[in-house]
Amino acid sequence: MSVRKDIKRSMSQDNDLVVVKKKAKQSPTKKAEIAASASKKTFFSYAEIHSTIISLAAKVKKFNPDVMVAIGGGGFIPARILRTVVKIPILAVSLELYDEATSTMKSQVKKVQWFDETSGVGRLVRGKRVLVVDEVDDTRTTLQYCCEELMRTNRPAAIAVAVVHNKLKEKKGTLPESVEYMAGADVPNRWNCYPWDAESYGHSIYVHEHLAAAKN
Ligand code: 5GP
Repeated sequence: MSVRKDIKRSMSQDNDLVVVKKKAKQSPTKKAEIAASASKKTFFSYAEIHSTIISLAAKVKKFNPDVMVAIGGGGFIPARILRTVVKIPILAVSLELYDEATSTMKSQVKKVQWFDETSGVGRLVRGKRVLVVDEVDDTRTTLQYCCEELMRTNRPAAIAVAVVHNKLKEKKGTLPESVEYMAGADVPNRWNCYPWDAESYGHSIYVHEHLAAAKN
């Protein structure tokens, strides 16, 4: 199937767009609610993510990291893009926001996966310069946890944080004073839809890219 046909077919299957269309005969209040929920999302294309994170190249080079710690899964692709300008290895960690009491408030961080300091690349952290990479700084809880955990467990010489997007909102987390902070772009406090998650929003990557282009 051609890309154009795929976009057309998938657009007709797109959850938000279809929902808005289907509910058109319902009450204006319901329609407004649905439209509002669809409009609370911002779609970002692969090209936008690439160019936004690459805009940090000079700052990242100046920081001169020995290794990147990418927070999975959102930090993986931005870290890989940055690796083209700073040719250093990438370590993966996985952190989940959770709340034991309600499992909805998401105020605590669970360490799902950390790296092995005794392995080859793991040795590049203790006493070295570490760049932590993630896709979005929302409440800052995850970034705070990651930096503090690195300091407590692995004692690097210096830490900087690079994120693609910083949401303009009041933050719950605070970064240690010594941590340098870099954000590719400040964005409104909405739900950011990233291209690697396209299928989880119910569309193909072609529809995702179309929606991302349509916002500009
Ligand atoms: P925090 O609230 O700790 O800053 O963000 C925790 C994590 O939630 C982020 O690393 C990211 O994976 C996820 N997150 C927060 N806001 C968004 C968003 O708008 N879009 C997506 N895709 N993930 C988000």
